[in-house]
Amino acid sequence: MNAIHPDMVNERLRGCGILPTAQRVRIASVLLAAPLHLTADQILAELRNRGEKVSKATVYNTLNLLAGKGVIRQLAVDGDRAWFDSNTTPHFHFQDVDTGALTDLPPETVRFEQLPPPPAGMEYAGIELFIRLRRV
Ligand SMILES: [Zn+2]
Repeated sequence: MNAIHPDMVNERLRGCGILPTAQRVRIASVLLAAPLHLTADQILAELRNRGEKVSKATVYNTLNLLAGKGVIRQLAVDGDRAWFDSNTTPHFHFQDVDTGALTDLPPETVRFEQLPPPPAGMEYAGIELFIRLRRV
């Protein structure tokens, strides 16, 4: 996997109001090195490959903190896994149904012709789109 300088991660966390502890920086570094979509378990496995002694709870808590502060984006893809995305700009996804792998889909490639009006007193806060793909 690609590497990112810890100073850049530090700065990014501070900019989002997160105290950059050494462990948080190491966890965030896995995702922030490149545009990536990873599950919490994949991030944990990568950290352990790097020789980090980190608990599953710490990884999950840190990822939730990072997502809550907008450093990364948590994706509601399916019920059994939490996916995290280092690309926080608005975009949609293709998902390979066999591997679960996600690929970014630029928003300008999708056109919503007709959406239902939101209920009275409500407005759209966002739209998630996952187009599931299988091999032919
Ligand atoms: Zn994405």
